[in-house]
Amino acid sequence: MNTLNKLTPGENISATARVLNKPESQTVRDKKLIKLKVGDSANIANLVAWAPMHKKILKLNLDKGDLVEIKLGSCPKSHKTTNRPPTITVNPNTILKKISLKNFPSVEECMGIKFLDELEDYRYASARVFISSIYNTVVYFCEKCKKFSEKMCDCGNFPDAIFSISGIFSDGTRTIPFTTLTEDVAEKMTNSKKPGAEKINVKILMEHPFTLFGYLRNEHFYVEDVVE
Ligand SMILES: [Zn+2]
Repeated sequence: MNTLNKLTPGENISATARVLNKPESQTVRDKKLIKLKVGDSANIANLVAWAPMHKKILKLNLDKGDLVEIKLGSCPKSHKTTNRPPTITVNPNTILKKISLKNFPSVEECMGIKFLDELEDYRYASARVFISSIYNTVVYFCEKCKKFSEKMCDCGNFPDAIFSISGIFSDGTRTIPFTTLTEDVAEKMTNSKKPGAEKINVKILMEHPFTLFGYLRNEHFYVEDVVE
């Protein structure tokens, strides 16, 4: 058995992990999937099972706090070149088992705040940070050209604004660039709704610390949730 810090894109992993939230069903491009977060003292990962593999998770009736033994889960090869979060995919060879063990980190311990200088690539963590600069609060993505653009794209199109905060933050051990992953996170961080995104007084964001949950990829922190 490995620990979750051995998770490497393109390789299999076998590990015992704590279930950190209730499994959620989703439908992506007409395909059913079940997703939940699992963790240990070293890392956190999304455990993802696409139909029909989702039955392997359903069968276990997992709940927050349970322990699950994962044998031969796979870490997507495509994550080698994309900035996707730590993920274990359930494949036909994967064996999942609910187990009980003494002395395994609790949900709170798995989700605990970590120092950024201890955070390696392809790791999830909560960090307590101060923002030192903001690059932007809005980005534009031109659907016609399929690329990020200025407010007016080179093609003359005015793409819809996407509420996204990016900048630089530090927890005292390391200073790194960050980006919010969804508009929900940007709203939570700024206490503003999307229509006000372009007029946010960014100085207010630098006045108090944030506890942010996210993952490190290529020296960049991707914010998935605002804890505090
Ligand atoms: Zn364009």
